[in-house]
Amino acid sequence: MLASCVSRLVRARAARYRGFATQGAVGDAVYPQFVQIVEVGPRDGLQNEPIKVPTNIKIELINRLVAAGLRTVEATSFVSPKWVPQLADGTEVLKGIDRKPGVNYPVLVPNLKGLDAAIAAGAEEIAVFGAASESFSQKNINCSIEESLVRFSDVVREAVNRGLRVRGYVSCVLGCPYEGKISPHKVAKVASAMVDMGCYEISLGDTIGVGTPGEMDLMLSEVSRLVPVNHLAVHCHNTYGQALANILMALQHGVSVVDSSVAGLGGCPYAKGASGNVSTEDVVYMLHGMGIETGVDLEKLIDAGNFISSFLNRPTSSKCRSKNGEDGECLRSKSLLSGCDVPSLIKEGNEECDLALDSKELSRLTNNMKSSEPAGVAYGHPPWSISQCEGISCCVA
Ligand SMILES: [Zn+2]
Repeated sequence: MLASCVSRLVRARAARYRGFATQGAVGDAVYPQFVQIVEVGPRDGLQNEPIKVPTNIKIELINRLVAAGLRTVEATSFVSPKWVPQLADGTEVLKGIDRKPGVNYPVLVPNLKGLDAAIAAGAEEIAVFGAASESFSQKNINCSIEESLVRFSDVVREAVNRGLRVRGYVSCVLGCPYEGKISPHKVAKVASAMVDMGCYEISLGDTIGVGTPGEMDLMLSEVSRLVPVNHLAVHCHNTYGQALANILMALQHGVSVVDSSVAGLGGCPYAKGASGNVSTEDVVYMLHGMGIETGVDLEKLIDAGNFISSFLNRPTSSKCRSKNGEDGECLRSKSLLSGCDVPSLIKEGNEECDLALDSKELSRLTNNMKSSEPAGVAYGHPPWSISQCEGISCCVA
């Protein structure tokens, strides 16, 4: 009796949401009918991993993400290997992936040298990054916001002249580990300057994941005065568990492009309280539940998340689990039990596999992270800081 009541209620609710989604609304709010996901795991996520991920694993991950239906997958970066050693194989990754028509594979580029390397590797779209925080800009890219905009304008102009599409990131839009709160007006000015340069879209990044929906609301109200909402995307990290709520708020503002990272890759896994990007699985689950289309097959996406989580030998950060009950945790246990029982492809030529299970190496990395001073304390929260990740340059977006 109770079961049948519940099932009627669920059916009724599903029908109501489907109905509203067709009209573009749930409750009083109006939502986009289709949301484009920009998958940033292979770049923003993996760049923070202290354990070397072999090129063939990165390529397989990207191919799986595309097979799951993602149409924009940020593949790698062409930042100096000195700063981001994890992504030193950008050329090999870009040349090695199975490029599908209709899929964008943007790469992060900091300067003209990086642009040349990206084009030589076959990039058709690049992303450049600026910050809305003066101190963050100084610490992350060693120049003021103003100087960074001048520097990027050369890169954007050259890229556009050579036929590439350019996406812009603005980081720290809802908070900075050095300055604390960031003025929405400042975010709007930087975003607007990047659009004027030639960026077709601006991804507004809550880089340290401290923002709340109220702050997202204020920030987007200000930014959308200068930049039309159809040129905006949001990029939410989940440090304080606010990412999905922040994304929901952005959708209510009409934003229909959302960055996310498979398995929630990113952040600094060994720093206390650190968290990566919102997981793509959780975003897709939420959107589909609201009747909003993404073109993504959730089960295949979860498989891709399990694939990389298995390799990294830790559970997925996604809360969304496969229907058959398999998740990163299960696969992780399997790999721990059998030494390195991940798919055979991972084993091929993968000398780093032993390293992934080497507890000595893990504890060395953990201690390194812990010994750094958490600059986020200045903010009044204890989020992870750039100093905790020095040398990995984890905080560019
Ligand atoms: Zn990010």
